[in-house]
Amino acid sequence: MELECAGTKKLEELTPTVRLSTSPYSIQLMKKPAIFVDRDGTLIEEVNFLSSVDDLIVYPFTPPSIKKLKDAGFLVIVLTNQSGIGRGLYTADDMHSVHEAIQNEVGGLIDAFYFCPHLPNEGCRCRKPNLGMIEAAQADFEIDLEGSWMIGDKNLDVWIAENAGIKSAMVMTGYGSAHRSTLEREAVVVAKDLGEASTAILSLGPNL
Ligand SMILES: [Mg+2]
Ligand SMILES: [Zn+2]
Repeated sequence: MELECAGTKKLEELTPTVRLSTSPYSIQLMKKPAIFVDRDGTLIEEVNFLSSVDDLIVYPFTPPSIKKLKDAGFLVIVLTNQSGIGRGLYTADDMHSVHEAIQNEVGGLIDAFYFCPHLPNEGCRCRKPNLGMIEAAQADFEIDLEGSWMIGDKNLDVWIAENAGIKSAMVMTGYGSAHRSTLEREAVVVAKDLGEASTAILSLGPNL
């Protein structure tokens, strides 16, 4: 008796599928969409030039939001402008301590933190709304940009989404309400906070 699988196809006809497992197509299949998320005023309370864990307040909706987004299959990647480093107000190590504390509060679910230490007038490639941090993330992860979002409270968070060709969600925490009126084009989603933004993104589905 001849064993058959996949309809009437013979084994030899199925072999090319196996060979395709290392093709660019299957790498494409492994790609995950990312939620790029701003830090200050989005994940944590906005503090001008936050330099110490003592002043860190993680919003109560942040841990469950990150969990929901991760459970839905998104990478969660923080993109943060930290010009306080360039200004000499605190060190990169101070900032890393803050990131460790945030990571602890969200159960270690954040995939990566990218930061820009430069001053706004330095013309670097990594300061939002420039694309350097997203490009760095793309070098480190297989990211499906088409399904990805940027969530943040400032106009530059919406602008980096526009520059990267991804969808944006603006939160009204932090500078959100003040910055919303500075936008020529509204974000795809405007939400009260990260909790509402996450719910909205998940309900819109991947193919918006
Ligand atoms: Mg912010
Ligand atoms: Zn930079």
